[in-house]
Amino acid sequence: MNLLITNARIASEISPSLTEADVLLSDGKIQQIGKSLAAPDGARIIDAAGRILMPGMFDAHVHLREPGFETKETIATGTEAAINGGITGVVLMPNTSPAIDSATVVGQVLDIARRTARIPVYTSGCVTKGRHGKELSGIDGMRGQGVRMLTDDGDTTADPAVLYRAMQYATELGMFFASHCEVPELAGPRALNCGAMSYRLGIKGSPACAEEIIIDRDIRLAHATGAHIHIQHVSSKLGMETIRWWKQRGDVKVTAEVAPHHLLFTDEDIGDFDTHYKMNPPLRTKADNDALLEGLLDGTFDLIATDHAPHTPFEKSQDFVSAPNGITGLDTALVSLHHHFIATGKFGWDLVVKRFSAEPRRLMGLPAVSIEVGQPADLILFDPGKETTFSKEFMKSKSQNTPFLDQTLKGSVELVMLGENILLERA
Ligand SMILES: [Zn+2]
Repeated sequence: MNLLITNARIASEISPSLTEADVLLSDGKIQQIGKSLAAPDGARIIDAAGRILMPGMFDAHVHLREPGFETKETIATGTEAAINGGITGVVLMPNTSPAIDSATVVGQVLDIARRTARIPVYTSGCVTKGRHGKELSGIDGMRGQGVRMLTDDGDTTADPAVLYRAMQYATELGMFFASHCEVPELAGPRALNCGAMSYRLGIKGSPACAEEIIIDRDIRLAHATGAHIHIQHVSSKLGMETIRWWKQRGDVKVTAEVAPHHLLFTDEDIGDFDTHYKMNPPLRTKADNDALLEGLLDGTFDLIATDHAPHTPFEKSQDFVSAPNGITGLDTALVSLHHHFIATGKFGWDLVVKRFSAEPRRLMGLPAVSIEVGQPADLILFDPGKETTFSKEFMKSKSQNTPFLDQTLKGSVELVMLGENILLERA
């Protein structure tokens, strides 16, 4: 298929300014970029005037719940939610049932993905068997199946000696670690941030130090063993500053991610026990939001990841303490970043392309994609002049546990293309 996209404004990770040009695609690749390109015979032409052309996003932290929790999400529905949100690649977390802790389960999950997903799916593997924190998982076998990221996400690997040993072993195999940081004894029932709001609601809160202690511990373990440590979903100011301090030392390989919800919301948003604002780590304060944004702008955070965590309406309708942690993010992330940060001038498309497309791919050892001649067609068209209403009908995730439910935000993912295929095109 020949496709000519005309008058597109092209975004890249290297420049905040957008370049207006025509882009000719065929055989699943970008063939030509220039002004007033001639359309080959039979080519389809899409006039992209006013719209932004950029590489597809990549989410290095998603829970697609298969196997074991298919009532919440499946690899099929979760990857369709990704496409709906302009995301063309995902990394699964291993807290499924059974947990993804052996070559066999990795093989089964990747097989489901091959059969049911229209975008590339990568999976992480557990650090410990069953995520129980005792015995090492089948690290060697998982590496043989292509796994690079090891994590007990959902929980911290509680025993530092176990993590230390895993780091010594897996680093030699070219693998890295992703840490969910939380001292369980301090975090308690993990309902919400410890502060004014938890006192007002009368629920035992989780103090930020429950997270910060493990951020520091796990970076120290990586420092001692030579491992690469990736800190997941950082929620606090001091957590960000800890990572920044270690990065400035320059003698440990540490990367980190921030989720859109931790940039945008605070514990005050919980209001009347709204479980759509309950996640782990919890929402904290405005000062934390501001510090996390600062960390994203100065590169302390290498990437943005959603921590897409679907739960059924029944589960989320329980009382605040009983309801499970997590919100969905795949359908909403890119539009919400546009609405709250790009449209308001807090950052530009270059940051989004770098932090939500290029860097997460590099973390996984994949080449970043860009809008350049010779690159594979892995791209989206975004219309900043349109709006998206996140109705139940709009969202492709099986679950709709998101604070954005029924909100209308500025921006719309209009087209998603991967190789020869247009995966999404809005009328
Ligand atoms: Zn987590």
